[in-house]
Formats: sequence, structure tokens, C-alpha cells
Amino acid sequence: MTLIIDLETVAHLAEQRKDEFDVLRYQLQYDDDLSDEKIDVLVDSIAAPIVAAIDCTQCANCCRGLSVQLGDDDIVNLATATEKSVESIKTDFVDAETYSDDPDIIGTFKHKPCTFLSGKRCSVYAQRPEACRLYPQFTPDFRWMLNWMLEGAGKCPIIYNVLDAVSAQVDDWQRSHS
Ligand code: SF4
Ligand code: SF4
Repeated sequence: MTLIIDLETVAHLAEQRKDEFDVLRYQLQYDDDLSDEKIDVLVDSIAAPIVAAIDCTQCANCCRGLSVQLGDDDIVNLATATEKSVESIKTDFVDAETYSDDPDIIGTFKHKPCTFLSGKRCSVYAQRPEACRLYPQFTPDFRWMLNWMLEGAGKCPIIYNVLDAVSAQVDDWQRSHS
């Protein structure tokens, strides 16, 4: 398995293959013979070695450009990690324009790249937000996550390589269940 990890190449290829990945989304979202569970098992088996092979500490592209959603628990954890008050974390790091009353999504980080990025590493790694822990999440419900994943394909080498591998196998999946 040859993985593409150069960020410029990933961005270029993802743009070039946009229509192809959109067809993949269409194939999976409109295939009633393949269950969500079956797709997730297949995708997990494809994604696991790719996630293991790509070193995020040599990339950090998501920390430079993504809007990270934060919940109450994340704010408390960041306060612990930085030895600041919860209020100062909210004031200093959460974008006031994104504030909501939902305790699970109270807003997003104010700054890009993320304030907590140090070189290519997270300075609050042990206490990083849940959204950062999960990214890039492929399952459960891969077929329905494809909508946002197509947007991330040009920014995240893991996503691009997983879509590339799924794309190469989807016809076989469909044939074996028809
Ligand atoms: S908190 Fe850490 S993992 Fe999350 S975006 Fe910032 S630097 Fe990246
Ligand atoms: S999750 Fe993707 S974008 Fe983020 S550091 Fe890893 S490979 Fe790079």
C-alpha cells in the first residue's frame, strides 16, 4: 500500500478526484443491499492500517485549519491543562460568534492555527478536546459521514487515503452483495 502523505499532493489529487469521490458517496448512500454495519466493518478494516501508518506529528494540518467544536467538558479539560479558569478559557479561546447554549457544542476555537499547536504537536494532548481525539472519524455510519469527509479529503492525508482505498473496493463490495 503506497500512501500519499504530501499535503500539496493530497490537496491536488482530492480536487482532481472530487467527482469520483462524489460517485462513491452516491454508490454507498443509495445501495440498499449493503447495511450500515457491513460498510462500517469494511471501512474499519481499511482505515486501521492507514491510521497506523500515517504519523500525525509530521502533519498537524487539521490543527491548522479545522473548526474544532468544543463542549463544556472540553473547556474544563483545557482549563486543567493550562491552569487557567474556565471563564478565561472561554474568553480567550472560544469564538464568541459561535457560542451556543448546547453544553455539548458551546462553540469553536477562536484561532486558526489552533493556539495549542506547538510546532506540529498538541501542547495539551492529554487534555485535548473530544473532537480532536476522534478526528478523523470514519465510523459509525461511514456512508452518512461521507458528506463532510469529502470536504476533508483535500486537507487530511488519512481521509484521502481511506477514500482512495474504499473507492478501489466499492465495486467488489457491491458485486458480492448483489
Ligand atoms: S487542541 Fe491540540 S489536537 Fe486540538 S486542534 Fe488544538 S493543537 Fe490540534
Ligand atoms: S488527522 Fe489528518 S490532517 Fe490531522 S494530523 Fe493526522 S493526517 Fe494530518
